[in-house]
Order: sequence, then C-alpha cells, then structure tokens
Amino acid sequence: MAMVTIIRKANVYQPEAAGVKDILILGDRIAAVGENLTAQFGGSVEVEEIQGEGLVAVPGFIDSHEHILGGGGEGGFHTRTPEASLGDLIRNGITTVVGCIGTDGIGRDMTALLAKAHALENEGVTTYAYTGSYQVPVRTLTGSLMQDIMMLDKVIGVGEVAISDHRSSQPSFEEFARIAADARVAGMLSGKAGVVNVHLGDSPRKLDLILRVVRETEIPASQFLPTHVNRNAALFEECLDFARQGGVIDFTGNEDIDYWETICDEVRVCKGIRRLLDLGIPDTRFTISSDGQGSMPLFDENGQYQGIGIGKASCLLKEVRECVQREGIPLETAIKGITANPASILKLNRKGQLKPGFDGDVCLLTEDSLSLHTVIARGRVMVRDKKQQVFGTFEKS
Ligand code: ZN
Repeated sequence: MAMVTIIRKANVYQPEAAGVKDILILGDRIAAVGENLTAQFGGSVEVEEIQGEGLVAVPGFIDSHEHILGGGGEGGFHTRTPEASLGDLIRNGITTVVGCIGTDGIGRDMTALLAKAHALENEGVTTYAYTGSYQVPVRTLTGSLMQDIMMLDKVIGVGEVAISDHRSSQPSFEEFARIAADARVAGMLSGKAGVVNVHLGDSPRKLDLILRVVRETEIPASQFLPTHVNRNAALFEECLDFARQGGVIDFTGNEDIDYWETICDEVRVCKGIRRLLDLGIPDTRFTISSDGQGSMPLFDENGQYQGIGIGKASCLLKEVRECVQREGIPLETAIKGITANPASILKLNRKGQLKPGFDGDVCLLTEDSLSLHTVIARGRVMVRDKKQQVFGTFEKS
C-alpha cells in the first residue's frame, strides 16, 4: 500500500466547490489540497499518482443508517436479510458507516453488531454503531444506554428507536424523553454526538413524540436524527417543519423509487431536497442514508404481498446524481447530504470534508455522468478505475 498518494488535477468539492486541484494524502490523512503539489522523499517511499482529469473529487460517503449485520425478518426467520460485505460499501463509495439493528432486537444484538463493525473496520472502512433497538426499553451491551455511549468507542448514539409504527414497542412520552436525555448527557460526557436515530413509521402520529420532547423539555431538536422522513408525503411535510425549527432530517434513498413513488406515495429524495431548499431551510439540515441491508416488503398494485426486497447502499450516489441531473441542485449542495452534513450531526470531526487534517477518504466520480470511478478509504485505494481492489475476507477477488 502506498503511504503517499497524490490525486492530480481533479475538480474538487470539499464539499464546497474548490476548482481543479491536487490532493496529497499522507498515510491515512489528507495533508494538502492545492495546485501543483509535490512530495519528495528519499529512498524507498512509494508515491502513487492518480490522474484526476475529467474526474470530480468528493469526500468519501458517510452512511448514517445501515443494517450492516442484516435486518428484517418480518416475514419469518427465512426473511432475515444478509450482512453487508466490504464490497457492498466500497463499491458504492461508502467509507464510513453507522450500523444499527432494526426490527429484530432479539435475534440480533449489540454484541453481534459491534463484532460486525469491528470486522468491517479491519477490512478497511471506518465504522460506528448506534446502541439500542427498535424496542423500548432499548437493548444495550452493558445494560445501560449511557454506559454504552460513554465507554464503547464505536457507539456514538442510540437507535434506531421506532415510533409511529405498528412494529414499534409504542414507547410512552416519558420513556422516549428519557432515552433522549440519557443519550444527550452520555454524549456530552464522552465528546460524542449522543444522537437519537429515530425510525419513523407510516402512522398519522408522525413526529409527535419528537416534537413533544422539543416543546416540553430542555432537549433541543439537534439531539434527534429522524430517518425515513420521505416515506410518505404527509410525514415529509411535518419533517420539513422540524427542519425549519433547527432539526436535521434523514432521507432514505431508494433504488426502486419509480415503483415506490407511485404505489406508496414515497417522496423522491431529489424532489424532497428541492422542496427543502426552496423553503429557505439551510442546506445543512438534511442527510441521506441507505437503510442498506434493511428489509423492504414488496407489494403489487393491489397491495398484495409479493416478497421481500433489500435496501441497497448504491442508492446514496444515485440520489445525489438525481438531485443534480433531475432537479438542477448544485453538486456541492447535494453531496453535503452524504458527507459534511452527517459528519456534523454525528460529530465525526475528521470525516466528510476534503481538507488538510481530515481522513484520507475520497471518492472520484466521472465528471459527465457522476458515476463512481475510484474510492480511497483512509489513504488506501479500495476501488480503482471502477474495479474493486480490496476484498472482504470471504468475498471473491
Ligand atoms: Zn428503520
């Protein structure tokens, strides 16, 4: 592995548009972004040069909600979804992922989730996890939500806690407020986000519990990262209000949106972001996550159960591309949703920007079609010229 990499003459988005620049990566960090950079070393130091002409450089993607351990199971044990492989992440530009459990907090637990997070980290990406579960009281590793956040390095918050869903454990206001309060204080004490990642279901109660906590307690909107905000139009409208009040909202990407948009009234991510921006809501208030490896029950036009699909991490870049190509949103704005914005709400201080001192996580995209070309994770080339270079332990090379 080259310890020194120079990307030459790429069109750099930090995510702010910085023009055509070189990027120097030393070890696992970005050392410089500038013009005509040189790096001279004596002896045997290998310097790898990557030609960036015709390519756009953006920060490596951060997926703030992915079922890396697999999820699902809503159709019986045989519908449990498989674990994510390293390739599932890096082939889609994801260099940082936050794992969460899902509907089944019994057959899957924090021990297994953290083991999986460590496995992916060993294979070359950066991983974090939320402690807890759909269910309340949340399931933890140490027996205490606060202790998990404070003492387990990979745990940066709690989630996904389900509300307004027939699959949630119907938490009371007091139970829900206590989770947010504990996560907040544990985050403060350990210098972490302590964010509460909230699964929103289809029920008309929508954001009720979150809005009550913000209204009736001292806990600010910024403690929450509600997800699946675009699952239906009515829910999305209320989530826009929450964003107006200072909250950050998390869109769930969808590779099969043409289907879901007509059948389920799901809001296409690019249209939702266009609406948020048109309302004058700051472009720091949204993120996009993949819900990768999560289950997606499929229904036909008559609402008949057809089978179970699986969330794909490829939707992150696809949604950004749709923002640019269908809605005319500048790349520097759209790309924030999977780089600088999740880094900020999750307090990942060395992630999400192409600037000196940040981790050497870089995606190179083709300038014309915004398709993934090269992926670098902490200074290591994982995908080069659209070919996967580094493989998970049990992946075929
Ligand atoms: Zn969910």
